[in-house]
Amino acid sequence: MSAPHFSAMQAARPDAETLAMAYEDLEQAWATAADEEGRRAIIERWDVLRSRFSTWYELAQARFTQNTGDEAARIERELSDELEPRSTSLEVGFLRLLLEGPHRSELEAWLGGHALALWDLKVRAYDPAIEEARVREAKLAAEYTDLIAQAKISFRGETFNHASIVKFAQDPDRSVRKEAAISRWAWFEEHGEAFDRIYDDLVRLRHEMATTLGHRDFVELGYERMKRVDYGREDVERFRAEVLQLVVPLCERLMVRRGETLGLDRMMFWDEALADPRGNPKPLGDEAWTTDQAARVFSETHEELGRFYEMMGQRGLLDLVTREGKAAGGYTTFFEEFEVPFVFSNFNGTLSDIDVLTHEMGHAFQMWSSRELFPMEYRSPTLEACEIHSMSLEHLAWPSMEHFFGDAAERYRRIHLEGGLTFLPYGVAVDHFQHLVYEHPEASPADRHGMWAEMERTYLPWRANGGIPRLESGGRWQAQLHIYGAPFYYIDYTLALTCALQLWAWADRDRPAALEAYMGLCRRGGSAPFQALARGTGLTSPFDRGCLAEVVGHAAQRLGLQDG
Ligand code: ZN
Repeated sequence: MSAPHFSAMQAARPDAETLAMAYEDLEQAWATAADEEGRRAIIERWDVLRSRFSTWYELAQARFTQNTGDEAARIERELSDELEPRSTSLEVGFLRLLLEGPHRSELEAWLGGHALALWDLKVRAYDPAIEEARVREAKLAAEYTDLIAQAKISFRGETFNHASIVKFAQDPDRSVRKEAAISRWAWFEEHGEAFDRIYDDLVRLRHEMATTLGHRDFVELGYERMKRVDYGREDVERFRAEVLQLVVPLCERLMVRRGETLGLDRMMFWDEALADPRGNPKPLGDEAWTTDQAARVFSETHEELGRFYEMMGQRGLLDLVTREGKAAGGYTTFFEEFEVPFVFSNFNGTLSDIDVLTHEMGHAFQMWSSRELFPMEYRSPTLEACEIHSMSLEHLAWPSMEHFFGDAAERYRRIHLEGGLTFLPYGVAVDHFQHLVYEHPEASPADRHGMWAEMERTYLPWRANGGIPRLESGGRWQAQLHIYGAPFYYIDYTLALTCALQLWAWADRDRPAALEAYMGLCRRGGSAPFQALARGTGLTSPFDRGCLAEVVGHAAQRLGLQDG
């Protein structure tokens, strides 16, 4: 199907009854299909049904994030939140039939073992017994998103939202950074009860779902939901320990050096985002200019990327600049029926606009590159694999950063690399925190703040919260939406970054080969699990001994951090 402009994209709103009937038809057809050919046709029909539902769901979600104050969009989003678990339950019922019936090996021979492994996980993680709980969970997560999106933070006589106030964290004037941090965290303090209550409800609910399904705690279920088929809890634990051992000391050194460069006797929380005494470099024009300039950057990186970016712009599939009422953050989604991705972000005029743009375009490009794979599972990889596409492009676009930053491009590259390195300890802290939380479901909100404070002492030992109450009591995690909305989706970024930095080092040695490897990875979509995809691209798995040491060594050398 050729794709219309985004504004003209429509998807019929499904209802529970019609959906149930469609699945009934499929199940009946499956039971009576005469031969393998007939069965394949049924799986293809099912893929169309899922694609159609997904298109409606993603459009509803996307349009709401574009304007959280739009009542019609809110209603549609709420409907999609309610119907999604229903659709998943029906899907799981059908999957059961496929997996437990006599044609399992026939399907496996046709589609490959990975699809079936993913289906097995889905059947386990989305049992109908927890369908109602999942509806409540989606509502709680949405409540968090709304609370953040509707924020009005007063600072120096003006009102900001979370997306627009964070730019002051990079202001060269220390008093601006400090006051902005105080205002932002006073807002969190003011809404502290709501943030605590929402999370408390989520933790209880998730624990209840896990025990309903026979798990000891939510951790196992969380991993299953993340569709992790080729690594487990112990691998992740070992990886966190390696970050603690190899990366944390390096970051401590980096923070000391940064403090010296900034002329501070002590780096405070509000100084951490400013890597350069001249102020972090900014894109040389406004947000619209950045959007235009990106066309040159992407086509220089690879001509296919250039053509792709042009198509996205022409079809209205880029909503990049922040405005009031827009949901926070950035994401990329895919509209299956129209076979195009959609990129959403909140440009605010700082260098992070460039991070976000190159990141999200990496996601979008992968979705585009593997759009013809079948079945649907192979078009959308597991998330740690997805983050390789995005984080690699952030680094592969480096040589063209002059187009955004002029002669400050080298400063951007250094800051970006430092940001990556310091992200690793934060990323594993978020992951470790969630393990603690779900292993101790009986903990009180105050206990959880204590757990986060412990994580800061362990993984971010340089952190000084400067007397800001919400931070001193261990509340920093409440600004991390993944903790609320997507449990255990955070270590994924650190695993992917470990892969992306390998591609970056590869590009230093042989750029054409690294780019070809990247394009190949995007085309493979989700047709294999994480470690297989990484290895198939010529990379080392982050869980292999020595991988992190080598990656970090290359980065430390580039930053002049290798000697103590
Ligand atoms: Zn991403």
